Amino acid sequence: MAGLFIDVELTDEARSDAELAKKLEEVCPVNIFSAKNGYAEVVEENLDECVLCELCVNAAPAKAVRVVKLYDGTALSR
Ligand code: SF4
Repeated sequence: MAGLFIDVELTDEARSDAELAKKLEEVCPVNIFSAKNGYAEVVEENLDECVLCELCVNAAPAKAVRVVKLYDGTALSR
């Protein structure tokens, strides 16, 4: 489930990348990612805290992470 304002999408490849999971958990200032058993999980209850800093997008390979702004239909990605 998405937040009210924000959704964060990870590709299956990104989700199962243990290194990336750890990195995402570290960089997000509002704890939207959790690294569990080598998998990256999105913490749904924190989604709307996203400050659109793009640290997650930039920490991941191109196209691996998308931060979707549900309120205007645009997304942060690279
Ligand atoms: S844009 Fe920033 S606050 Fe939002 S999920 Fe990515 S790292 Fe977290």
